[in-house]
Parts: sequence; structure tokens; C-alpha cells
Amino acid sequence: MRLILLGLPGVGKGTQAKILATRQGLLHISTGDMFREAAAAGTELGKRAQEFMSAGALVPDEVTIGMLLERIAQPDAAKGLMLDGFPRTIPQAEALDAALAKQGDQIDRVLYIQVPEAELVARLTGRWSCSNCGAIYHMQSKPPKAAGVCDECGGALSQRADDQPATVNARLDTNRAWTEALAEFYGKQGKLEAIDGTGSPDDITARLEGALANVS
Ligand code: AMP
Repeated sequence: MRLILLGLPGVGKGTQAKILATRQGLLHISTGDMFREAAAAGTELGKRAQEFMSAGALVPDEVTIGMLLERIAQPDAAKGLMLDGFPRTIPQAEALDAALAKQGDQIDRVLYIQVPEAELVARLTGRWSCSNCGAIYHMQSKPPKAAGVCDECGGALSQRADDQPATVNARLDTNRAWTEALAEFYGKQGKLEAIDGTGSPDDITARLEGALANVS
């Protein structure tokens, strides 16, 4: 089984990709993780990717496609794939289709996790951290006892630039453009399945697995 998980930041895509890969016996591939590992190891690929990642931009297709195709040519990819964060452009999707077709394979299903926009913004902007001890809070899932004050040390809570509403909205806009283009691409192939991403992580896993029930 070869699957792709699609969804905007904050829908829980990374968490679900790991859970599904384990439960279904698939190889979990996150191109974001691969780039971060390469950057931490200081390889040429990592240094190149880091420039784009720091700027919040996509790593160019020729770098990303090469890295991904090399990874899925490894023996452990034969057990099946759970792709997370790839493809992000139509040329990436086309290159993936072409590489799989060469070996007589294909993508079986593209699961598109969807969460209402207002809830996504609340999830993404809810994170605050203590400027003194670094403790992390979330206004929805782990609020501090007193607003703006750290439970641990009494320090002042502040929000990272990345988590502020203007930055979050800009990030959602950019991601929406390519996510919708890919949804259309796989929709035309009849492979797209929309999944309700609200509720508990267990609810979402159950919906995803329900959508896989008739995949061979
Ligand atoms: P992620 O952890 O999936 O959000 O990825 C982190 C960063 O890695 C992204 O912001 C991009 O800079 C880069 N990246 C990951 N996957 C891709 C991809 N498929 N195409 C281009 N850039 C990517």
C-alpha cells in the first residue's frame, strides 16, 4: 500500500502519519524530517535545504525529488509507503507517479485531512512559552492557571513570532495554494479521500483507517 497524507499545518498530519505507518506496517517518509536530519548532520544537501527552510520557502524540486526517489528505491520501501510532506508541487507528484509506474506500482490513496479554518488558527496561535524557564503552554489543551503567568516559575509568557496570528495566516495561505493544487491533481486520478480532522487523535486515526478498508 502506498499512501500520501495531505493537509494544512496544524491538522495533525505528522502525528497521524506516524501512527498509521506503524499500524499498517508502512515506511514513514517525511521530507521535512529528512531535510532537518541532513541539516543537523551538516551534509551538502542539508546546507542547501537549510537556506530555503530558514526563509520559510520550499526546497527546489530538483533537490527534493532526487532525495525522495533515492529513498523510495531502498529495499525497506518495498513494504509500502506513508508519505508525509511530499509531494508539495505538481512536478513532484508527476515525478513520483513516473518513478512508481516504472516499477509497476502506483499511489493507492491520498488522504486529505481537513479541519475548519477557525479551529486551525486557534490551534496554531494558541502556543505560549515562558520567557524565563521555557515551559510550553497551549490556550486550548494546556492553559496556564493564571493568564500570562508561568505555573512553574511565575515568569511572563510570550508567543514566538512563528505562532503569532499574522505569521500563521500567511503560512496557511501559502500552504493552502499547493495543498489545493495537489488535491485537484489526485482528485482527477480518483485517489483523493477527504477525512474529517476534528475530534481526538483516536477518532481521526479510526476515520483514516476506515478510508483504507478497501485498498488492496
Ligand atoms: P515540514 O516539516 O514538512 O513542514 O517541512 C519543513 C521544511 O522542509 C519546509 O518548510 C520546506 O522548506 C522543506 N520541505 C519539506 N518537504 C518539502 C517538499 N516536498 N518540497 C519542498 N520543500 C520541502
